Amino acid sequence: MSQTILADVRPWGGAPSDVVLDGDRIDRILPAGSGEPGARVGGRGRILLPSFSDVHVHLDSTRIGLPFRPHTGSPGVWNMMLNDRDNWRGAEESLAWRTTETLGRMIARGTTTVRTYAQVDVDAGLEKLDAVLAAKETHAGRAEVQIMAFPQAGLLREDGSAEVLDRAMANGADVVGGIDPCALDRDPVRHLDIVFGLAEKHGAQIDIHLHEPDQLARFSAELIVERTRALDMRGRVTVSHGYGLGRLPEGELRALLEQFRELDIAMATVAPPTPLPTLLLAEYGIRLGLGEDGQRDYWSPYGNCDMLDRAWQMAFTNGFRHDRDIEHVAAVATMGGRSVFGSAPALAGADDRPGLASGDPADLVLVPGDTVAAAVMDRGADRTVLFRGAVVADGLALAGAAA
Ligand SMILES: [Zn+2]
Repeated sequence: MSQTILADVRPWGGAPSDVVLDGDRIDRILPAGSGEPGARVGGRGRILLPSFSDVHVHLDSTRIGLPFRPHTGSPGVWNMMLNDRDNWRGAEESLAWRTTETLGRMIARGTTTVRTYAQVDVDAGLEKLDAVLAAKETHAGRAEVQIMAFPQAGLLREDGSAEVLDRAMANGADVVGGIDPCALDRDPVRHLDIVFGLAEKHGAQIDIHLHEPDQLARFSAELIVERTRALDMRGRVTVSHGYGLGRLPEGELRALLEQFRELDIAMATVAPPTPLPTLLLAEYGIRLGLGEDGQRDYWSPYGNCDMLDRAWQMAFTNGFRHDRDIEHVAAVATMGGRSVFGSAPALAGADDRPGLASGDPADLVLVPGDTVAAAVMDRGADRTVLFRGAVVADGLALAGAAA
């Protein structure tokens, strides 16, 4: 039997171990120095984690690898969208080059589960979707990628928007997107009926960007809950951002989270300065994933393809100091994302450190550090990334030919 040994690694920062892989799965975990035969990957005492999951990234707008440009957007989703629309075609490299380069850098830093957005609107048509599909195809052996067709410009402000979204779902997108049903389209019932209708038509999941303030966010969330229940879409809906929900009085938020738990509605965060109450979501067993959002694009100069860096940012914006809380962020950045993606169950609370047991997928990352919390603080470069049991990156570079 051909097996691979991850020699002298510390699963979740624990005891030095030899982790035996059988094909694309973890087979056994033995004490380090086991002498087990097989191809060896040198762990050198590094920490073994499940590989990172970025479940909220806009690959379609990335400018990673291009010259830095001054930010030219003005406040508000619609104005920011117009700024992107005015500029994206003028980038120094093709969009397919940009999406492929950025996804490659994400993989090289340890991310192998990705939910990326592809903006679809009457300006771009399916051009951005095609570029994201090209990146997914190029890196198919290195990462699992879901594509969300994202109506960034709304569905009701420009004729033909809903039709483009429908076409995107028929042309390779996996998830139907929605955005600020009250604030952007100003007709939340119609907006959400289109989104849920297309999800039903295409048998797809839903992911809704919610940047709305407190009571407006709550109102939109209640309409989402209502439709999730009516159409029996339990476990198939994600609310992204939801900053405003974090500002609700605790009683109102708890009442909403009860319904999210009942309907298994997931959440995705990008670690903003007004974070979702991370530990409260863990208490309710809400599936929570982390993402980089836009990266050095026409929306934001932040983002560097590194989910360990974004995990640091999430710990920082939450004000976490205790090791347990920082390790929980690492769990959100790895297995939490997979739970949003649909390939793992929700974390069972803030102490849960799953993903490294016999039978789990050999989608893994080795990172340097004394402890998991130290690894998040230091964000070292000495990493090795495995996807389906094969090394796909080492030392922040893709293994084999550059893609
Ligand atoms: Zn976003």
